[in-house]
Amino acid sequence: MLPSIIVPLYNEEAVLPLLVGRLDELVGGLNCDVEVLLVDDGSRDRTLALAREAAARDPKYRVLSFSRNFGHQAAITAGLDFADGDAVVIMGADLQDRPEIIGRMLELFREGYDVVSAQRESREGDGAYKRMTASVFYWLMRRTVDQRIMPEVADFRLLSRGAVHAIRQFREQHRFMRGLIAWLGLNEATVRFKRGPRAAGTTKYPTLKMAAFAWTAITSFSGLPLRFGVLAGMGMTMLGVLYFIYAAYRALIEHATVPGWTTLVFLQIFFSGAILLSIGLMGEYLARVYDESMRRPLYVLREMVNMPRRNAQTDRV
Ligand code: UDP
Ligand code: MG
Repeated sequence: MLPSIIVPLYNEEAVLPLLVGRLDELVGGLNCDVEVLLVDDGSRDRTLALAREAAARDPKYRVLSFSRNFGHQAAITAGLDFADGDAVVIMGADLQDRPEIIGRMLELFREGYDVVSAQRESREGDGAYKRMTASVFYWLMRRTVDQRIMPEVADFRLLSRGAVHAIRQFREQHRFMRGLIAWLGLNEATVRFKRGPRAAGTTKYPTLKMAAFAWTAITSFSGLPLRFGVLAGMGMTMLGVLYFIYAAYRALIEHATVPGWTTLVFLQIFFSGAILLSIGLMGEYLARVYDESMRRPLYVLREMVNMPRRNAQTDRV
């Protein structure tokens, strides 16, 4: 059996030597060949140089390097495009995803599961803010994207070769890997683990990037926000009809004609806001359609080290 391990790297010079040490240890105990795909997502520090060093020392380390920062999900995609293993593990660089779990994941894979997900049973390394935003995130994802998305499961998971081949067929620009995997509906096992703090370096997911990620997740899997505009519009129209009845009653029966300036101003502001919101949402989706219709590649490679010669674009499935 050949397991592949994919590690996306963005400015991870502080943690990469620790990671390589831990992976060497892990592989020593596994009793099988392993390939480790280090995917450099356009780092601007010494990450690529360190990855090259690891590859020069040990052929199990293979390096894919992007021309610029294409994002975490694109880096995972490249890893999946090039991974040769019959089981493929995706993990973060910072050792928050503990490599020791991989042995247990491989056991479950041998029992026949296509997806083995690592579920965080605690987040010792995260502060109150990260925990709070994360729980809102998972709640939202389960309601808007897919009920099958498991809480506290991120991108640390094992995929069978079959699952990887299925994932390679998704070429959408705005990617939310967890949603794609849930969408596949393959049989999935979970391994629970305690998530510690980052071993070194700082998070590559500041709040704004997290919010953008959540927005991508929601809008690439559901039209719910668009329908929200329709629902709000219907609600408004019903209120408008009720108000019209009231106004007619006041004018025709009670003959109480009031200036009504306040009402008009209020309605004007309210409806303009509602209309702009709906148009904005449509624009958002139109932009997504536009992005997808261009069919651009999801990443551009600048360099490969220790990779068997082949082309991800032609060897996708
Ligand atoms: N990452 C990446 N490209 C990016 C941002 C992050 O490849 O644009 C990688 C990063 O190097 C790490 C993984 O994605 O291996 C997860 O990032 P991080 O650990 O900073 O996120 P957190 O655990 O704080 O959510
Ligand atoms: Mg992390």
